[in-house]
Amino acid sequence: MNRLFAARRPLGLAALAIVAWVLPYRLNVYWISVADTALLFALLAVGLGLVMGIAGQVNLAQVAFFGVGAYGVGILTTAHGFGFWLAALLAMVAAVCAGLVVGLPALRVQSHYLGIVTLGLAVAFLDWVTNAPVTGGDSGLSGIPTPPLFGVGLSSQYLYYYLELIVLAAGLAFGYFVVRTSLGRRLRAMRDDALAAGAAGAEIRVLRMIAFVLASVYGGAAGVLYAGLIHYIAPETFSIADMFLLLAMVIIGGRQSLWGCVVGAIGLTVAQQELINLAAYAQLGYGMLVVAVVVFAPTGLAGVPSRVRRWRLRRRSGISAAALGSFSGVPSSGRTGAVLEVSGLVMRFRGVIALDRVSLRAEPGEILGIVGPNGSGKTTLFNVISGLYRPSGGRVDLDGRVISGSRPWRISHHGVARTFQHLRLFGNLTVLDNVRMAMDRTRSWWSWRYVFWPVGVWRHERELSRQAGAVLDAFGLAAFAGALPHSLPYGIQRRVEIARAMASAPRLLLLDEPAAGLNGDEQRQLAEIVRAIRASGVTVVLIEHNMGLVMSLCDRVVVLDSGAVIASGVPASVAAQPAVLEAYLGTTTLPSEAS
Ligand code: ADP
Ligand code: MG
Repeated sequence: MNRLFAARRPLGLAALAIVAWVLPYRLNVYWISVADTALLFALLAVGLGLVMGIAGQVNLAQVAFFGVGAYGVGILTTAHGFGFWLAALLAMVAAVCAGLVVGLPALRVQSHYLGIVTLGLAVAFLDWVTNAPVTGGDSGLSGIPTPPLFGVGLSSQYLYYYLELIVLAAGLAFGYFVVRTSLGRRLRAMRDDALAAGAAGAEIRVLRMIAFVLASVYGGAAGVLYAGLIHYIAPETFSIADMFLLLAMVIIGGRQSLWGCVVGAIGLTVAQQELINLAAYAQLGYGMLVVAVVVFAPTGLAGVPSRVRRWRLRRRSGISAAALGSFSGVPSSGRTGAVLEVSGLVMRFRGVIALDRVSLRAEPGEILGIVGPNGSGKTTLFNVISGLYRPSGGRVDLDGRVISGSRPWRISHHGVARTFQHLRLFGNLTVLDNVRMAMDRTRSWWSWRYVFWPVGVWRHERELSRQAGAVLDAFGLAAFAGALPHSLPYGIQRRVEIARAMASAPRLLLLDEPAAGLNGDEQRQLAEIVRAIRASGVTVVLIEHNMGLVMSLCDRVVVLDSGAVIASGVPASVAAQPAVLEAYLGTTTLPSEAS
């Protein structure tokens, strides 16, 4: 089925290219201007799709990027006598700067708060263009020249269509290149679970800025093209109403799919022309359509085919756990285990003291168990070690180097990987992509290659795929490479999370209750996996409630109670200590299995 799709795709693209190419021959003057507008909206929508749908950053200032591009060209060509293309280049630089400014709030706030802040910035921009002398105020700027191309003036709307078409095609190709490779995978992972993405090595703050810069490049390019097409710009073109129209295009089309954004943009532009006499009702119609899409098809029109496919798959058989292969060893990473040293660690949450001067040490090739009643601070300890929390006191060293207080991605790059008590897989990434994302050890500034050395990106991608394939094979997960995590049985998801953690070639692995929810057989397989990880030299710290597993698996055990270490040593001696029994059961009988 998939192979069929793969074969059909180039044919479909070729057919689409031919249709797009001959379309102007069938259009009269009125409809060619509609087509020109539609292509500009499509370019804007692809940019918005990248920042909102792919990176998950609410951006209601896309129309301001559009404005910066258009006004940049307008001001530089009319007031300063620049040639069109030089002005266009400078306008793009201005748009990228605007992208950085609009992206700044994303470092602090997310979701609807980010929507409000970016909307505020868009309104401020609109206010500025309406009032500043340099933008011509209300009456706008006219007399913007036509862009020349190889000696040909593109004054014909028909010729301009081709310029826009080429820019859109290039924009889409680049957008897909980003989405399908390292950078896009990180952006998507960040969208699905920013916390887990950070712990897997993604520089969240940098990625958020990159997302806004990407959006601003598409927005700015659309603005530049608009100025060259219409030769006249005025504030009303960049109104908030247009921002919401753009938003409707992206949501209806499907924000997670760049094609969806294009379809939404073209569809709504055409619909708007058809309904021009019913403008008041049309607005209401879009509003209702957007609400309906958000409620009934959150992935938009573009998401419908895959929803149908997934529904059919589930009806046919679903994915069977039987396809789970056996674990065949940890792929060697060439890295040795690290010494973890936690000293006097204190973590306070307002009134609660979650960690109270915790000190412990774990050596390479050792499995250290952390046990303790619920709420005793075990997960908090992991959160501090992996950088999700900054400790209130004390420190964490890895091989003698202080890591506490560093950001999660940096700690991940130092060689710490973890799993979560409540699974945190990237829900809209396939199993293969979950693994590839964590395996990708490049820094985010590496993304300059997308512009200057795409071949390097491809090579890196091939290498990642090869290594990720090896990890999936080793963990017996090859059959699920293309599956989305939540379509898999729980036990398999747990194994995927461990495979993802191991994909980053860690020197210290933190496992937070990995056996929770597993049946007896799965627990035995888990023990085998954890032993193999230890044998590969990695230092393992394991939080576990299942005392049987702790006894059989751990070399040493540390017992936490109310945030403090109350006992430590080899499992058998620790389990016999009265303080431990007291903490667990309030009695002094031996716990066989606490939950
Ligand atoms: P465990 O994993 O041992 O069950 P946790 O580390 O999750 O325990 O929690 C330890 C204590 O810290 C609990 O009292 C919990 O309520 C508190 N705590 C953990 N995280 C936070 C947080 N982000 N904000 C406030 N309190 C927290
Ligand atoms: Mg916990």
